[in-house]
Amino acid sequence: MKDYYSILGVSRNATEEEIKKRYRELAIKYHPDRNPNNKEAEEKFKEISEAYSVLIDPKKRAQYDQFGTVDGTGGFSSEYDFATAFSDIFSDLSSVFGDIFGDHSYHRGPRPEKGEDIGINLTIDFKEAVFGAKKEIRIKRKKTCPKCGGSGADKRGIETCPYCRGRGEISYTQGFFSMRRTCPKCGGRGVIITKKCTYCGGVGYIYEEEKLVVNIEQGINDGDIIRITGKGNPGKYGGPSGDLYIYIHVKEHEFFKRKGRDIHVEIPISITQAALGATIKVPTIWGESEITIPPGTQNGDTFILKHKGVELNGMRGKQVVKVRVVIPKELTKRQKELLEEFAKESGEDLSYKESILNKFKNIFK
Ligand SMILES: [Zn+2]
Ligand SMILES: [Zn+2]
Repeated sequence: MKDYYSILGVSRNATEEEIKKRYRELAIKYHPDRNPNNKEAEEKFKEISEAYSVLIDPKKRAQYDQFGTVDGTGGFSSEYDFATAFSDIFSDLSSVFGDIFGDHSYHRGPRPEKGEDIGINLTIDFKEAVFGAKKEIRIKRKKTCPKCGGSGADKRGIETCPYCRGRGEISYTQGFFSMRRTCPKCGGRGVIITKKCTYCGGVGYIYEEEKLVVNIEQGINDGDIIRITGKGNPGKYGGPSGDLYIYIHVKEHEFFKRKGRDIHVEIPISITQAALGATIKVPTIWGESEITIPPGTQNGDTFILKHKGVELNGMRGKQVVKVRVVIPKELTKRQKELLEEFAKESGEDLSYKESILNKFKNIFK
């Protein structure tokens, strides 16, 4: 049998005032807020609270004095029982705990929290990036559970937090200072859940697929990020929703290569076009265009087509055309004859295979 009098350290004929005074001293000393993660203090606190709950109640005290036991207070079987009992104590102890819990200028409930951001990848075609597009995307967002409204609790499974009595915060004294902290029992919500919402399993949200049409701005590039404010997960405690981040990936084009606003292409030309000069047709993202290459154009020479690049923020880049001289792999008999004649005219001796090699040897001498 527990000796409630010795637990509180008062005599068997202590007055109500003495019991309150003593409990107050001990409660301040062993209060869980002042002894975080201290199991011993917590046990002690429960013990003195139990003793107090009996001795402060004239009916229970009389029963205890007579029978050495009290119905329904043979210890606390759970955290919840403890908290409930604790709340009973505190509800008639407000005068005693005036200086601990007396400040009523609490901020109610936990602070609003912004929802989490969501990130998704979106792959678009080269053309869509260059000219802009509207793309439909599907995202999975958390949505506040329609059954419990985000509380995570069943309708009848939500009760005012007995520990902070619904305030969401508790105050305590530390030396001369009155401190406040979020209620550890309810996490600042001011309520506790005794039965979980069956629809969301108690988490307070469900996942819902949402279709969104995203506006791809003209000139967007690979690696760009589109941010859509408020399309992330919903916030908590009245906080704003998070944002949606769309990471843009642009598929490569087989022909056009992009560098910022500029487009690079490689155009094959024949040896005669290179040697004699020509006007050739060149595709651009804005349609077909022409460049004139002068006689004697070398393999790898580049030509600029102004304003044929990507338009971004009202400015257009250029197109850089690089020519690649293609040597024919097969020649007709006539073409061969003509080229041999060309060689003869150039003073080359095609039968002397070493001639070119010798030229290089001379370089290294
Ligand atoms: Zn729910
Ligand atoms: Zn609380």
